[in-house]
Amino acid sequence: MTPTDSTPTTDFIRTLIEEDLRTDKYDGRVRTRFPPEPNGYLHIGHAKSICLNFGVAGQYGGLCSLRFDDTNPAKESAEYVDSIKADVRWLGFDWEDREHYASDYFDPLYAYAVKLIQLGKAYVDSLSADQIKEHRGTLTEPGRESPHRNRSVAESLDLFARMKAGEFEDGAHVLRAKINMASPNLLMRDPILYRIRTVSHHRTGDTWCIYPMYDFTHCLSDSMEGITHSLCTLEFENNRPLYDWVLDALGVYHPQQIEFARLNLTHTLLSKRRLIELVGTHVAGWDDPRMPTLSGLRRRGYTPESIQTFCERIGVAKRDSLVDMALLEHCLREDLNLRAPRVMAVLRPLKVVIEDYPEDQVEELDAVNNPEDPAMGTRKVPFSRVLYIERDDFLENPPKKFFRLAPRREVRLRYAYFVKCVDVVKDEKTGEVVELHCTYDPATRGGDAPDGRKVKATLHWVSADHAVNAEVRVYDHLFTEPNPADEKVCPDWRACLNPKSMETLTDCRLEPSLAGAAPGTLYQFERLGYFCADPVDSSPERPVFNRTVTLRDTWAKIQKAQKKK
Ligand code: ATP
Ligand code: MG
Repeated sequence: MTPTDSTPTTDFIRTLIEEDLRTDKYDGRVRTRFPPEPNGYLHIGHAKSICLNFGVAGQYGGLCSLRFDDTNPAKESAEYVDSIKADVRWLGFDWEDREHYASDYFDPLYAYAVKLIQLGKAYVDSLSADQIKEHRGTLTEPGRESPHRNRSVAESLDLFARMKAGEFEDGAHVLRAKINMASPNLLMRDPILYRIRTVSHHRTGDTWCIYPMYDFTHCLSDSMEGITHSLCTLEFENNRPLYDWVLDALGVYHPQQIEFARLNLTHTLLSKRRLIELVGTHVAGWDDPRMPTLSGLRRRGYTPESIQTFCERIGVAKRDSLVDMALLEHCLREDLNLRAPRVMAVLRPLKVVIEDYPEDQVEELDAVNNPEDPAMGTRKVPFSRVLYIERDDFLENPPKKFFRLAPRREVRLRYAYFVKCVDVVKDEKTGEVVELHCTYDPATRGGDAPDGRKVKATLHWVSADHAVNAEVRVYDHLFTEPNPADEKVCPDWRACLNPKSMETLTDCRLEPSLAGAAPGTLYQFERLGYFCADPVDSSPERPVFNRTVTLRDTWAKIQKAQKKK
């Protein structure tokens, strides 16, 4: 199922496709593709493109393919190809047998290039890269023609064949389209179509030493695959005339390029070039739970459904915008609220001894797994004389609005009893509170006090003897600034990285039902947030949990504030 099956979303792209279907422009066909370059891992921005391409194909009875735009062997690898396939599948989409590679088209692309030369629409240039740049001109000045521009067709054909045969060094010659050196669009000033790169390709090995450029490859790949609507991001708007020129010059089937705004998200960066730089320096890997990559989000505990919902909600528009991360988190919370069982876990333990509770007694108390879904049932949680509570749920000198535990104060322990703090034990040297002594009221088991007295707080807890020791990694935004891509705010984006984006807590205590939690399993730790057993580092011997997201819904708050205005 695709996310758009059930939701009647509409946008300018869908409107346009519906119009094309009405006028039978492509014989009623809808054919899209998701065309990643395998030079890094996919990020949440790519998810927008994936949901859009597979979404519209699904919605209009069409097909979507996965095409690797692998024409730059120096930066691409099989690792990236594999990760991209795994991520698209995880997100919930299936390209079936429509898995294509631009490198599979190297032969026909070469033939198309030869044809362009024969038509007098391309030529081999022998200027150096610097000279070509210098001849290109600027936005205000026209470019200058290369002295090789009027080379004969025969000479260009000969040189192009010898480029392919490996007779020349990298950079000695290039193939250029013969368009217009005075075009106001710099991309139309005789763009380079092929360059020499003596580099092995991860799929074609050393068969080729010339590789086609994006602008030549992309439109022809679309054409050969019978794509109808070639959806890409706004930065390719200036490339559209070239897309059209190549296809028209060759007189081949002509899909339609349509641009939409790329996703930008607060407190992170969606650029593979920059994410690559973070890997191994500021984060542990592409799948570091702080990364906006799909593998990072997956490891963090994001569900594919929540990402699909997010992509639906942000919609597709023509103008660039910055989407608040709070919306992504909101979509995740909505999903997890229904599916994640609630459990008790103490991240920063403070020991509590219930003085009047029998030494050897253990009670199995009933706890609700998810109040949102009675079908998820209940479980037993052991209660005993020595417990842990959260360190910050106690204050020796509580300020006015602190209602949790304090000396001589009574609170409820979730699913258990009312307890009252009667003594505080401190470290003699440091003065730090190391233990609390409480009494309990047996009449309050699992409910209220029969005499009607109230408490103002309910705390979570874990029985000391039964607790599972664990490590918990608490994550925060990767960048301190909402828009680290804004050079006015972050002249050097690296300086805006959040030094506190990860805190590792190594002495956490979990309720025993979490023993052996399968990697990837999601829970709500009551009062603390959603957490997931780390798919990489967690083991039955040493559970490791990632904080997926807090319980605080800042998006709902933002919405409320906007409504008031
Ligand atoms: P990056 O800028 O991260 O390097 P890219 O555009 O170079 O991304 P590609 O692998 O070429 O990465 O992208 C594959 C497809 O995903 C393209 O069609 C591209 O337009 C789209 N895409 C990339 N980034 C975003 C984004 N932030 N929002 C929406 N679509 C995106
Ligand atoms: Mg790209």
